[in-house]
Amino acid sequence: MQMKIGNVLDVPGTVMPLDLCVSEERLAQVHRYVFDAPVRVVGQIANHAGAVTLEFRVTASLRVTCDRCLKETVQEFSYAEAHTVVRKLVSEDEDDSYILAEGECIDPEEIAVTDLLLELPTKMLCKEDCKGLCPVCGCNRNVTDCGCMKDQIG
Ligand SMILES: [Zn+2]
Ligand SMILES: [Zn+2]
Repeated sequence: MQMKIGNVLDVPGTVMPLDLCVSEERLAQVHRYVFDAPVRVVGQIANHAGAVTLEFRVTASLRVTCDRCLKETVQEFSYAEAHTVVRKLVSEDEDDSYILAEGECIDPEEIAVTDLLLELPTKMLCKEDCKGLCPVCGCNRNVTDCGCMKDQIG
């Protein structure tokens, strides 16, 4: 969803609030994660003395499978993001913090989803101290104290 921001780009002091849910169509393109609720993006685009910044918080509920014990949980992830919006890139640097407003438009959904995917942990755990599955009998060691490991350690 493209958003016209010509007014913010042109007029210092202009603030455009941002409060949107990322469309299901957009989320359907993300194959790595299962979303449990719409992804929310809340923030603003503001022109401070000619410098245009896009600031927002992206919040997502994901259905994740624990890497250690394989239990499925729903977890909420929330990240604060900030970008500088420019009409054209002045240097060749491919800096992620810069957003190019092509035709005075930006796509906040696309930007937020890209940021979210970069921030999400690669390893998902049901809880930080998850004990995982027993390598000997395969039971969930958060639930059952099977004792296999004790025998091995002696
Ligand atoms: Zn776990
Ligand atoms: Zn065991």
